[in-house]
Amino acid sequence: MTNREVMKIAIDRYKDMQLIVAIEELSELQKELTKALRNINNNKTINLENLVEEIADVEIMIEQIKMIFRIDDLEVKNVIQRKVNRLLNKLEESNNE
Ligand SMILES: [Mg+2]
Repeated sequence: MTNREVMKIAIDRYKDMQLIVAIEELSELQKELTKALRNINNNKTINLENLVEEIADVEIMIEQIKMIFRIDDLEVKNVIQRKVNRLLNKLEESNNE
């Protein structure tokens, strides 16, 4: 079974509850990021393993959010490209200041 097929079964079974799981996973990543920042500030080591775990959880849930709302990957990719281009422009502008 592909990853998408497994996610489809989860969405069919749990429906909108998967959006609650998505919100939970986002806050878990948020928590790991605040821990990482705190450790950076205290010159302590960062737990990369935990960070990778939470990034993976969030990526799985983002995939499901797109499936639930029937959002096309290409549409998201286009928006990402537009935003990264805008970021590049900003960076270049601040270089010239
Ligand atoms: Mg998690």
